[in-house]
Amino acid sequence: MKKKSIPDNISNVSQLLEDGLLFCDDLGCILFSNNLAKQYLGENLIGKFIHHLVGIEELKNLNTSYENGVFDDQFNYQIDDALKRSLLIKVKKIENNLFGVLLLDMTLQRNLEKVRRDFVANVSHELRSPLTSLVGFIETLLNGNVEDESTKRKFLNIMDEEAKRMNRLIDDILSLSKVETEEHITPNTNISLINPIQYVISSIKERGLSKQNNLILEDLRQNTNDPCFIIGNIDEINQVFVNLLENAIKYGYEKSDILVRIEQFRKDEVIVSVINQGDGIPEKYLDRLTERFFRIDKARSRELGGTGLGLAIVKHILIKHRATLEIKSTPKESTHFAMTFPLANTD
Ligand code: ADP
Repeated sequence: MKKKSIPDNISNVSQLLEDGLLFCDDLGCILFSNNLAKQYLGENLIGKFIHHLVGIEELKNLNTSYENGVFDDQFNYQIDDALKRSLLIKVKKIENNLFGVLLLDMTLQRNLEKVRRDFVANVSHELRSPLTSLVGFIETLLNGNVEDESTKRKFLNIMDEEAKRMNRLIDDILSLSKVETEEHITPNTNISLINPIQYVISSIKERGLSKQNNLILEDLRQNTNDPCFIIGNIDEINQVFVNLLENAIKYGYEKSDILVRIEQFRKDEVIVSVINQGDGIPEKYLDRLTERFFRIDKARSRELGGTGLGLAIVKHILIKHRATLEIKSTPKESTHFAMTFPLANTD
C-alpha cells in the first residue's frame, strides 16, 4: 500500500505542540514525528514500529485493534532513563491507514502524586518526635511542677532546640519536594560551576574551623581559568555543595582537611569530589544514603542537627542537572562524594 505523506503545514504546526506527536500507518509504522516525540523515543523514528519502541502489543495492528473494540486508545509508558518519565499514549484514527499518536508527558503529575504520598507518610513520623517532646515540656511547665529556675531554663533550652529542629525539617522538606517535583524541568541558563564552589567554601569555612577542619579547593584541571559552564540553577548548585560540605564537617574527624577536588578527563564533563577523613560509611549502606530520612546513626545525625534529607536533596538536584553521583568510602579513613557534571556546549 502506498505510504501516506504528511502535508508540510501539519508537520510545521506539530512542532509547536507541547506534546509528542507521531503519525503511523495501521501497522504502527511511524510516518512522521515531531521533535518532542524524538526527545521521548529517540532520533530517526521514521520507519520504526511504535510497538517495538514502547513494547505495547495493542499498537501492533491499529486497525484490527479498533475493529475488535479492544482498543482502549490510551496507554502508560515509562521511559527507561534516569528521569523515568511517564508518558500517556493516546491513539486516534484520522482516516484509513492513518493514525495520530499523542505522547503526553505525565511525569510532573506522577511526581506530584508520589511526593504527596511520601510526604504524608514520612513527615508525620518525623515531626512527631520533636512535637511530643515539646508538648511534654510545655505540660510540665504549665502544671507548675518545676520551681527551680535553672531546671526551667534547661527545659526551655531543650524546647528551643526541638522547635529549631522542626523548623529545619520543614525547610528541608519544602526544598526536597520542590526539587523532586521539578527534577524533569531542565534548567536553561549557563552558569559557571567554579563560582558556586568557591562561594560555598568561603561561606562555610568558619564552620569548619570550629572543628579545626581546613576546607581546601584542589583544582587539578589543565586550565584552571576555565569557568566550567554547565546548564544549571545557581541556587540549587549552591545547595548541593552546602549539603555535602556540611556533612563532611559533621561526619569528618576533627583537625582534618576537607578537600573539594575538581578534575577533568574529558572535554564534555567535569568531576567534582567532596572528600573528608572520618569513620566513613559501611559499604552495605552506600546505596541507601540518598533515600529520604535514611541515616546510619539516627541519634548521631539528630545530635548534629541533621534532618536525614540533605543527600536526598543533593540526589534530586543532580538528576535535574543530568549529573551523576558516586559515593565511595573506606571505613576509618575517608569518604568521597564524586559528582560528574556534563559541561554546556559553549562553542
Ligand atoms: P543528615 O541530616 O542525617 O546528615 P543526610 O541526608 O545529609 O542527612 O545524610 C544521610 C546520612 O548519610 C547521614 O545521617 C550519615 O549517616 C551519612 N553521611 C552523610 N555524609 C557523610 C559523610 N561525609 N561521612 C560519613 N557519613 C555520612
